[in-house]
Parts: sequence; structure tokens; C-alpha cells
Amino acid sequence: MDQPYKPPLTTPLYKILPQEPLLLMGAGPVPIPTAVAHANGVVINHLGDTMNQVVGELKRMAQYAFQTNSDKVMGVAGPASAAMEMGITNLLWPGRKVLALVNGTFSARMGCMAEAVGAEVDYIRAEEPSPLDLDEIKAQLAKKKYDVVTLVQGETSCGICNYNLPEIVAACKEQGALVMLDAVVTLTTMPMWMDSWDIDVVVTGGQKGISSIPGVSLIAFSKAAWDVVESRTASMPHWCLDARKAYRFWGHQQYHYTAPVPGILALYEALRLICEETLQKRFMRHKRSSEALQAGIEAMGLELFVPKEFRLNSVVSIKVPKGIDAYQVRKHMAEKFSVEISGAFGLDIVRIGQMGEQCRSHALFKTLYAMGMAFRQLGYSGNVAAGMAALENILGADLNDFVP
Ligand SMILES: *Cc1c(COP(=O)(O)O)cnc(C)c1O
Repeated sequence: MDQPYKPPLTTPLYKILPQEPLLLMGAGPVPIPTAVAHANGVVINHLGDTMNQVVGELKRMAQYAFQTNSDKVMGVAGPASAAMEMGITNLLWPGRKVLALVNGTFSARMGCMAEAVGAEVDYIRAEEPSPLDLDEIKAQLAKKKYDVVTLVQGETSCGICNYNLPEIVAACKEQGALVMLDAVVTLTTMPMWMDSWDIDVVVTGGQKGISSIPGVSLIAFSKAAWDVVESRTASMPHWCLDARKAYRFWGHQQYHYTAPVPGILALYEALRLICEETLQKRFMRHKRSSEALQAGIEAMGLELFVPKEFRLNSVVSIKVPKGIDAYQVRKHMAEKFSVEISGAFGLDIVRIGQMGEQCRSHALFKTLYAMGMAFRQLGYSGNVAAGMAALENILGADLNDFVP
């Protein structure tokens, strides 16, 4: 008998990819430094002395990024959502009570995952784009006792930042709830002090603030969270995402599953560059880049979606003027300028990322120019030159501390 299926017609990858790679200026993934790209091309044994040294040093660098001295810091093979799922699955089971604080797509996802493992989930929802309301949260916490509260630091879907995070965490801890934080878009782009603020679980992805590749993520557990993980008697629906099993690899250099070696090496290099830059300098680079970009966008005549005091400085969202098609703007930018930015889930905005390598002056100038020209060519009468001048004014204002 012949084999039932013939090989399909194939296309070499270079014929599919654009000849000029697009500059990734959307809400992630983001451009990666050359050292990260090189590391991502290397495969070594996932067990043994070399990998042990890599994992040990990676954990120390991750502890710095999270600002924690917990040794329950682990990589997760999977997107940031898999790290979220690890946190949710290990801390929750049927009957556990969760308060999910929601101000967009990603914070809603944690509530959804908590429901899926059988937890009893209540929601507090802020209208997009507004931050979480501390008083409303306090009132709910006084009414009912929760095991876990979930929230996001920066909500990528609309560009809002919960700057009152430390106060929210304190209110939750006062009531005895563990706090789980999504810091995917914010980690290493703005302050997040896991230990000082007493946060119990923090998750992040590789492809956003950290500027590594997508597919390997990070999670950190506090001692209080790990006590729950360790004393759990409820059955565990996940095998790969079982934190106790994962710690065999991340704590004891033993086999759990074959680790995603190139992604771990890439993450290593990304974290090394962060440690070399230092968090303080990196936060300043992000703040300055974002403020410059915001000023440039407004000087062009466009309007930002989020009020200034709640604006995230790692993803900025821009209202699309009436009569202009956001999809056409993005298409134009990609085709004519090789720059890619993001649309949105259902909102009439476009979003530009300022995460890690996106916060470089060449990338910011190119992106703002491309967007201004795209809007203009689609019939919007914006002042591109004024926008570029405003960008330059802030990026290059201080000759001792400019954005390179
Ligand atoms: C991108 C993002 C996620 C999801 O990351 P994936 O890697 O796509 O799973 C979660 N939360 C926030 C805030 C994000 O920006």
C-alpha cells in the first residue's frame, strides 16, 4: 500500500517574510538586542553543569528585575499567559475565593482562568480607560474575605496604569488576601518592588518590557504564596504548570520537562543587559521616551486615549480621528515605512509600544514620522514637522542624559 499522504508544496521562509524586516513598534513582541538573538540560536543540554550555571545566574538577575530575594523565581515554557496560568492554577482550586480587578483584556484573563479551575470569582471592573478605584476595592474587601486578589500593573489593551498599585496591595494584604500581579508590560520599564510592596505572585513574559523572545516567561512566588503551593492537597489539573514540579528544575537542577533551552539563553542575555543598564536608568529611558512620543503625537494634532495622570509609559494609545481607518494607517506604515504598530481589541485606537528596545531614538523617530505621514496621506491634516520637533525636544534635551 502507498503511503496515504504526499508531502505538501513548500515555500521557503524567505519568500514569506518581508525583505525588509518590519520595525516592531506595537504592543509586543518587541525588537530584540543582537546578543539576545544570538543566544536564541544556541542549543545545549538542558541538564548538566553548564545549564546549572545559566539557571543559577539567570535567577539572580531575575530577582533583581523583580526586586525580590525569593528563590521561588522560575521560567515557564510558554507565553506570559502560561505564567499567569501557573500562578492561578497553583494557588486556586474549587471553593477558593478570588477578587479579580479588571481594567482591560489582560486583567480579565486572570479572572477567566480562575473560574476555569473552579474558584469562586467576583469582579470589580473599571471602565476603559480608567484606573482601579481604591475605595471601591476596600469596600469590597470589607464585605467579603478573599484568598487571592488578581490585578495588572499596566493594562496593555488600552494603555492605562494602576499607579495606586502599592495602596491596593496594602489594602488586600490587610485583609489577608494574597496578591497576584500581571507585570508583563511593566517589568523593568517602571518601578515594581515585589518585596517592598509585599506582592505574592508576579508574572511577566519575555517579549515585552524585557525585550527577549516570546515563548519563555517568568514567575516569582513570595514565601506566603509558596506556603500555599506546598501545602496544597487539592488535585492539580496541570502537569507542566505544576509549580512544585517546575521547581525541581528551577531549584534542584533536576528533570521536569525538557527546558526551552534557546529561549532560556535568550532570556539570560536580555536580563544581563537589564542588570548592566540598571533599573533606574532603564526606567528613566522609558519615561523620557514615552513622554517624548506623547508630546510628539499631541504636537501633530492627534489625541491620546488615556488621561495623562493614568497613562502607561510602556504602551501609548492614540485616538483615531473621525473618518480615518485605523487599519489603513497601520497598513500604510508597514508598506511604506516598514514600521508596525498595533490596533486594539474593539476600541478605535492605535497603540505604540515603548518597551525595552522600542525606546531607542532611531525607533521613536522612525515610528512617529511614519505614523504622521500615514495619517496625512489618508487625509488627516496633522502637523508632522511640529510632532518631530516636539519629540526631539525631549529625547535630546539633555546632552548628558539623552535617549541613545
Ligand atoms: C501581552 C500581555 C499579556 C499576555 O502575554 P502572552 O505572552 O500573549 O500570553 C498579559 N498581560 C499583559 C499586561 C500583556 O501586555
